[in-house]
Amino acid sequence: MPDLFSPEERSRVMAKVRGQDTNPEKIVRSLIHRMGYRFRLHVKDLPGKPDIVLPKHRKVVFAHGCFWRQHPGCEHAARPGSNTEYWNKKLDRNVIRDQEHLERLLYLGWNVLIVWECELKDLDQLVEKLRRFLSDE
Ligand SMILES: [Zn+2]
Repeated sequence: MPDLFSPEERSRVMAKVRGQDTNPEKIVRSLIHRMGYRFRLHVKDLPGKPDIVLPKHRKVVFAHGCFWRQHPGCEHAARPGSNTEYWNKKLDRNVIRDQEHLERLLYLGWNVLIVWECELKDLDQLVEKLRRFLSDE
């Protein structure tokens, strides 16, 4: 498999990933772009306004923050120890809403991939995950 990045690019992307203002969506978008796919952004007439939409392939990709979207089993999804009622309500609502969007997208015949923020730590593995999802095999 050809490497998507030159060493300089790789370190630049990794610096971005490690940075404070990590934007998972931007990074996933740039990976998919490098892989040669064309996509649309934030399609408002689809459930959940997916971050990345590939209409031709009928595929959508979401880039989710582990805490806000409650990545199952992820250490970054741990709920705060204080104000628990507030947080439980808020986070439960996010999870339910995401689940509803997912079900509606599947019902409409879309293929859905969720990339979690913590998966950006291993770019090679993430690229492989994207490749498997995006290829029409
Ligand atoms: Zn996670």
